[in-house]
Amino acid sequence: ARPLPMSFVMSAPRHEDLPDVRAEVAVLGRSNVGKSSLINAVAKRKGLAKVSSTPGRTRLLNAFAVTDDTQIVDCPGYGYAQASKTSRDEWMRMVEDYLIDREPLVDLLLLVDGAVGPTKLDLGVIAEMREANVPLTIVATKLDKVKPSIRGKRRREVATACEVASDEVLWVSAVKGDGLGDLRQHITDMLAV
Ligand code: GDP
Repeated sequence: ARPLPMSFVMSAPRHEDLPDVRAEVAVLGRSNVGKSSLINAVAKRKGLAKVSSTPGRTRLLNAFAVTDDTQIVDCPGYGYAQASKTSRDEWMRMVEDYLIDREPLVDLLLLVDGAVGPTKLDLGVIAEMREANVPLTIVATKLDKVKPSIRGKRRREVATACEVASDEVLWVSAVKGDGLGDLRQHITDMLAV
């Protein structure tokens, strides 16, 4: 699949401020999971999502148009070491309200670091999203950091921890490009474009 034609539309403090669309895919993961790198790689545009933006500063939903009536929404990352409990709670409320209430949401791409595996926080978010019936797909990042000899084993471990079948996890490397075609295809299938 070719790079997705993504263009930045707006940053919104609340999901009610986002553009109305027919279909939307959300992207979420803890800080440093490789979310910005992945968005840039999917679009093949280096500066699209700011890589390593100041932790805690970006607390907004960022919308990227794919077509006239579809978009990808980048959610603020969770799990900053420096974040206070109040800001964590605020993050939780804003992002959960968005994910749970958002009518055009067709899939949540939940990013986990493939090199370290899902953290407790990741598993908590996954459980909560399942509980709320938010449709989600696990995307494991940084495949290039996993030695080829242990990739099969790691794939099974990540899938088991996230309670999905091994072939349901999309593995990607934003650096080497592995899995990007499948991920782009998944997104265009979900958006039906
Ligand atoms: P974000 O905080 O989730 O947006 O994460 P970033 O995209 O800023 O990436 C965090 C760090 O992981 C940066 O140092 C990236 O260069 C690195 N990184 C992101 N994706 C990959 C990848 O696929 N492979 C490797 N080796 N490093 C990556």
